[in-house]
Amino acid sequence: MRVLIVGAGILGLSTAWALVRAGHEPVVVERGRAPDPRASSFDRHRVIRVTYGAEHGYAAMALEAFSAWERLFADLGRNHLVQTGQILLGPREEPWIRDSLASLARLGLTFEPLDGGALRRRFPHINLPKGQGAWFIPKAGALLADRICTDLSAWLVQQGITILEGAEVVAVEPEQARLRTADGRTLEADALLVAAGVWTGRLFAEFRERLQPSRQTVVYVRPPAPMAAAWEEGPVILAKDGREGFLFYALPATRGAAPKFGDHNLAVGGDPDGERTPQEEAIASILALARRVLVDAEGYAVLEARTCFYTVTADERFFARKLGRTLVVSACSGHGFKFGALLGERTAQALSGTLAFEAYRAWIEGRALA
Ligand SMILES: Cc1cc2nc3c(=O)[nH]c(=O)nc-3n(C[C@H](O)[C@H](O)[C@H](O)COP(=O)(O)OP(=O)(O)OC[C@H]3O[C@@H](n4cnc5c(N)ncnc54)[C@H](O)[C@@H]3O)c2cc1C
Repeated sequence: MRVLIVGAGILGLSTAWALVRAGHEPVVVERGRAPDPRASSFDRHRVIRVTYGAEHGYAAMALEAFSAWERLFADLGRNHLVQTGQILLGPREEPWIRDSLASLARLGLTFEPLDGGALRRRFPHINLPKGQGAWFIPKAGALLADRICTDLSAWLVQQGITILEGAEVVAVEPEQARLRTADGRTLEADALLVAAGVWTGRLFAEFRERLQPSRQTVVYVRPPAPMAAAWEEGPVILAKDGREGFLFYALPATRGAAPKFGDHNLAVGGDPDGERTPQEEAIASILALARRVLVDAEGYAVLEARTCFYTVTADERFFARKLGRTLVVSACSGHGFKFGALLGERTAQALSGTLAFEAYRAWIEGRALA
């Protein structure tokens, strides 16, 4: 079958990949470049982790995602997942941490509690805040997001798949799986996927309330010299404290990408096509969180800060709706990249009808195993 895909982010590209593998003919329509630097998917690295608090459905999906990435990388001929493991830090009584560890155990995954001394010996750049716990979880790492998207686009083109760049879709007729572009083209297919990320609300006003943009900041850093070796493919760090209401994460230096800090403080609103200069307060607030969990945190130099947009839902679950022959899907809230290849496979099945839509929706909402 022929399938139109709006958007060449990780969702659109991996669905196209899975459709090709299943013998279908996708056509990708992208308003910018494929991949586009403004897309949520375009950054040097993204975290893949199985720690999901009480959201066991997403933890199970994350574990399954690792093998889907292997299938995708086998086709690309390159592996863009660096399995570094993860350090989880936070109060021992933090429910999100307790639930995450229970979920890991339920999935048969190992984790190792580390006291302050063991943490310092193995990861000298990480500080254990007083009264808190640290756990090392081997099943986690960094996905080299921009390289994945670039290689996926190139792979699709090699397979003879059409990717229309600079083609903004301005209208969709869901029942007919038909779309119209700003330059006046009308395209039609057997099915249509809208994977337009933070721009979805422009095509479907009825989903604007549910899919909100959130302006996020990430900070690339140069560690102090004595810490540089520890950051080289060191673990992903995730520090969570529900009482104080923060989640801080850090990605290691991986294959040429500098270490990166971020948080999950939502700044809902803003225009993803507007000014993207990072705000000083957002940078300062991320560096303040870094100071809680890093040794010699004052010695880090900011190399670059970037603004990127999440598409957030109120409960941070992913979103899928079926309108006639069209699926509208958003898998973000700041945690969608890790599922990329797996999402592509399941979305391709939902489009071709080999997976019933309601089952797909329960799965993508993280409810299948809850
Ligand atoms: C700062 C930040 C940190 C994150 N960290 C992580 C992480 O560590 N781990 C993780 O798993 N996830 C993370 N995420 C989330 C993850 O990046 C997203 O879930 C994922 O990239 C969403 O991909 P997408 O394909 O749905 O959307 P996008 O990547 O935004 O792609 C949408 C595409 O559609 C195109 N488009 C839009 N409208 C139209 C139109 N009308 N016509 C044609 N084309 C159109 C856009 O140009 C864009 O290329 C993070 C996100 C951000 C912003």
